[in-house]
Parts: sequence; structure tokens; C-alpha cells
Amino acid sequence: MTERALAIADKVEAFVRSEIIPYEKDPRARGDGHGPSDELVLEMKDKARAAGVLTPHILADGSHLTQRETATVLIRSGLSPLGPLAVNTMAPDEGNMYLLGHVGTPEQKAHFLAPLVEGRARSSFLMTEPAAEGGAGSDPSMMQTTCHQDGNHWVINGRKAFITGYQGASVGIVMAKSAEGACLFLVDLPDPAIRIDHVPHTIDSSMPGGHATLTIDNLRVPADQMLGQSGEGFKYAQIRLSPARLSHCMRWLGCCIRSHEIASDYANRRMAFGKPLIDHEGVGFMLAENMIELKQSELMIDWCADVLDTGALGTVESSMAKVAVSEHLQRIADRCVQVMGGTGVTDDTIVEQIYREIRAFRIYDGPTEVHKWSLAKKIKRDWKHAQAG
Ligand SMILES: Cc1cc2nc3c(=O)[nH]c(=O)nc-3n(C[C@H](O)[C@H](O)[C@H](O)COP(=O)(O)OP(=O)(O)OC[C@H]3O[C@@H](n4cnc5c(N)ncnc54)[C@H](O)[C@@H]3O)c2cc1C
Repeated sequence: MTERALAIADKVEAFVRSEIIPYEKDPRARGDGHGPSDELVLEMKDKARAAGVLTPHILADGSHLTQRETATVLIRSGLSPLGPLAVNTMAPDEGNMYLLGHVGTPEQKAHFLAPLVEGRARSSFLMTEPAAEGGAGSDPSMMQTTCHQDGNHWVINGRKAFITGYQGASVGIVMAKSAEGACLFLVDLPDPAIRIDHVPHTIDSSMPGGHATLTIDNLRVPADQMLGQSGEGFKYAQIRLSPARLSHCMRWLGCCIRSHEIASDYANRRMAFGKPLIDHEGVGFMLAENMIELKQSELMIDWCADVLDTGALGTVESSMAKVAVSEHLQRIADRCVQVMGGTGVTDDTIVEQIYREIRAFRIYDGPTEVHKWSLAKKIKRDWKHAQAG
């Protein structure tokens, strides 16, 4: 690992441990039940800015750390669920910044990207649609939201679901389909043409604004706010996809390292049947399995990041990494609760929140089964290719 990445990661870890972990007990961390209040997020970001760790993966000249370097930094930012919000490495902003940095025009970057990098704005990515209406979910080609050109504007109509952080965001990236295919648009938020219908209660509570269901009713977007070309939306979404998927793995690995630290501390101190819990093989083995799967997750992330650093899209590799890491980490979070007995299911420690929230990670950015299905299709393609040649 490079010295610059290690130096940034050390600084981020020290900041998260000393300044951010204490906020986990702040009532504002639960906010309105969906996620921390924006007041708290801004307060933490101010501290991160003062400590020189805000948006640590994007350098002063606007360049991005490599993916392997990003992993080193983002894992440490994830040591608290609040860490990524504080240092500006959270989803969906991190993925949106990456996409804008790679596809945005200079004018789009100045207007939409700069406030995100500076931690002055939040963003959301509007792709998924309500399942009950047959909209896009696992299969984005089922997209029902439409767009058509009207003079110098595009007009968008449709419904969206699970839009993380929409409430309170000032930048939106909206996906809709034109006659040519999928398109992406940059939108200033809030806009009266986008109505929040509902913010469902979900298993997680660490994303400001929750995950909203929306109606888009004749939203007019200036033509120069289209991201890339009409009909190329899925191609641009692919650019965002693998790094964004991998960055979830990084942050969740940080959370599970922390859970494992807390569970190990508990097992070393807590006595049962005349000896510390860790000396009981059943408990010691659970922690040993955690140690193995933490390392497997780290190696999977590092391998996939290395592939992305070659300039490849890494679609296959990020599917493999996402499945492996999300499944490993969920087992680790579960074992930490088990090792800690009743304490594990209370909010006395962050272990409970991490266990609860990591469940959704096997669904967003592609459910496990969808990744396995696309990997199986690749195996079949490769087999056919081998037979033919
Ligand atoms: C917490 C959270 C945050 C999210 N944030 C955002 C966001 O900010 N923006 C956004 O656009 N979307 C967001 N999403 C939506 C997310 O991307 C979708 O939930 C995901 O793509 C799955 O779509 P779906 O929920 O419609 O599931 P469905 O498409 O209804 O699939 C249901 C289940 O069917 C199975 N399945 C589907 N296809 C296959 C297959 N080919 N082979 C085998 N099994 C299959 C899987 O087990 C899957 O879990 C978020 C979701 C969650 C839970």
C-alpha cells in the first residue's frame, strides 16, 4: 500500500475513533427514525473539515485515490456507521461523486460535483421503481420512468422507490428511458415536480432521509443537465456500479472489524463456568471464524480493487466480491451478537445496529442471487465459447 494512502487512513481512523464514535450515543444519531439528523451530519462534517479528513479519497487537485488506496481509507472510515457520513465517504454520495468525476462536463462538475466534494450537499440516485407497479428492480430493463425532449428541456415522468437520502438531498441523478434507451439526468433538489409519497420504515437507521418512494410529475430538466448521451444511461451506470458496490464492501468491513473488536473484548472479560468466555471452545471458535472471514473479505476487496485499477469495468469481479463479502460480513455480525449474549441485542453497543443494518446489504446494489445468476450466465457463455473454438 502507498504511503499516502496509509497516512490518510491513519488520520481517518484516529478521527473516527476519537471524534465520531462518541456521537453514536447522541440522540440525533437516530434522528427521525430513518437516519441521523442533517444537523448532526453537518456538525460532524465541520469537525472532519477542521481535522483535514473530509472527502479523504479525493485529493486537492480533484484526482481520486486508486481503488486499492480508497479501500484502505474507506474501511477505516467505516469503523463507525457514522464515520462515512462524517468524512463524506458514504453512499450514495461516494458513488455519485465518482460517476460525476468520470462522466460530468466541466460545467456539471462545477455546479453538481463541487458542493458534494466540499461536503456542502447530499445527493441521491433515482433508479429503482415500485415493485407493485412492475417497475425496475433487480431488472433495470423494466424501467417505466420516461423522458422526452421538449425544446431545450427534457420532461420526465414516473415513480421511484428506495431512493436513499432523497429527503434533504440537493443533487439528484435520475434514470429514465427515452426512445433511444436509458438516460441519466442531473437535477437540483428539491423540485416541486418530484413528490415524496412515502418514506417506509426500514430495518436500517443510519441513512439521513431514509429510502423514499417518489412520484415524478412532468419534471423539466435543461438539456445540458443530461449526464452523457441519450440512450447510454446503462453504460454510465456501469461505470458507477463496480466501484460503488465495492465501496459498500469497504465500509461494511470497517463496521464488522469494530463489531469483532467489541465482541472479542466482551469474550475476554466476561466469565462463565469459572473461566473467560473466550476459553470456551464454542466462543473461541466463533471469534476465530470471524478472524478468518474478515481477512477473506479484505483480500476479496483488495483483489477486486486491483482489477478496477487496471481500468477494467470489473463487473464479474465486483459481483463475486459483493456476494462473498456481504455473506461473510453478515455471518460475522451475527456471531458478534451471539458471543455477547443478551448485551449483543441491546443498543448498549453498536454491535446491535451493525447486525440489524447489514441485512439490507445482501439486497441493494444487486441481490446475492442476481449476482450468482449473472455469474452462472458467464460460466455458460465461456463454456459455449470453449466448445465453439
Ligand atoms: C436499503 C436499500 C437502499 C436502496 N437504495 C437505493 C437507491 O438509493 N437508489 C435506487 O435506485 N435503488 C435503491 N435500492 C433498491 C435496490 O437496488 C433494489 O432493492 C434491488 O435492485 C432489488 O430490487 P427489488 O427490491 O425490486 O427486488 P426484486 O427485483 O423484486 O427481487 C426480489 C428477489 O428476487 C430474487 N431475484 C431477482 N432476480 C433474480 C434472478 N435473476 N435470479 C435469482 N433470483 C432473483 C432475489 O433474491 C431478490 O432479492 C435500495 C434498496 C435497499 C434495500
